[in-house]
Amino acid sequence: MGIYEELGIKRIVNGNATLTRLGGSIMPRQVVEAMIEASESFVDIVELQGRVGQEIARLTRNEAAYISSGCAAALVLSAAACITGLDPEKRERLPHLEGLKDEVIVHRMGRVGYDFAVRQTGVRLVEIGTEERTTEEDLRRAIHERTAAILYFMRPDWTDRGLIPLDRTIAIAHERNVPVIVDAAAQVPPVSTLWSITGMGVDLALFSGGKGLRGPQSAGLILGRKDLIDACAFNGPPHPFIGRPMKVGKEEMVGMLVALRLYLAQDERLLLDRYERQVKYLIDAFNGLPGLTARRTFPSEAGQPMPRAEIVLDERRLEMTRDEVLQGLMEGEPAVSLASSGKSGLSVNPQTLEEGEERVVAQRLREILRLEA
Ligand SMILES: *Cc1c(COP(=O)(O)O)cnc(C)c1O
Repeated sequence: MGIYEELGIKRIVNGNATLTRLGGSIMPRQVVEAMIEASESFVDIVELQGRVGQEIARLTRNEAAYISSGCAAALVLSAAACITGLDPEKRERLPHLEGLKDEVIVHRMGRVGYDFAVRQTGVRLVEIGTEERTTEEDLRRAIHERTAAILYFMRPDWTDRGLIPLDRTIAIAHERNVPVIVDAAAQVPPVSTLWSITGMGVDLALFSGGKGLRGPQSAGLILGRKDLIDACAFNGPPHPFIGRPMKVGKEEMVGMLVALRLYLAQDERLLLDRYERQVKYLIDAFNGLPGLTARRTFPSEAGQPMPRAEIVLDERRLEMTRDEVLQGLMEGEPAVSLASSGKSGLSVNPQTLEEGEERVVAQRLREILRLEA
């Protein structure tokens, strides 16, 4: 009996997304083995963090790199770094910022729930623009001497939606010496995001380690400017300041490095081809069946260049609602988690399916929809 069976915890086939509430992603065996090896000795944790950072910086063509305990922690440390630099007196005062830089600028329409992490440092988020549109003038007007940073949520499919493009944001920020932090948590694939946005001039680019990169769930990457990354480390564990509750173990540091090496060693094109095959299998299995239409959608829910299979239900004809289908999938054996799409559709995301699991998803769907196999 496995540990999950012993605990009465259901295993879930994840056709939804790299969701933290489902465990994020599955680490390759080599990552877990490297973590086991790392777990068997004591080391100097600051030295290890520095060395792994150097190696990751080299691999990702960045000036510097730091492993945080996830992208949310990377947001906290990046904001702290922009406020304190390497000043011990400032570091000790967080989150009370009287007299310090205490504002971070964010597009109103580009906000996602994760900016709470930035506010943990004590900064106030200053929104620019409206739900529809932000102008360069909005950004210029918002910058002043207490601006610590500009925070930008990366959504490649949003460029037409009225955000100031990233290159213009960088240019305006740098005219005034303000750093740009980009939350790119779920922007691998494409792996090139690890160097393309810092190559454009982004000061700090932040990634989840346990999403597309399939590293430890409790790891993340901060990539970019050396002086700011030194300031992230200065605020981070083991130093007993704002980052101390965001500890990163030696196992996560080593696991993250090995996961990144594996990702870079593979041909990403082949990975994306596999996603296409899985999506096609699902579309062929369901499109045109009574009460069903299936099609390929693109890009992914996070705007990544990856396909998904969308299956739309004629709820009346099937005498079943989409939500009942999703619930039935989760209650079955094995449980299957899919995303909802539109009013009566569901989406299958191949990114978190193992090879062949598309067949399990199709089989469970057929059973719930009472279709002949
Ligand atoms: C997932 C996510 C985060 C949080 O990342 P963790 O690695 O889970 O801490 C932050 N921002 C965005 C946009 C995300 O999608």
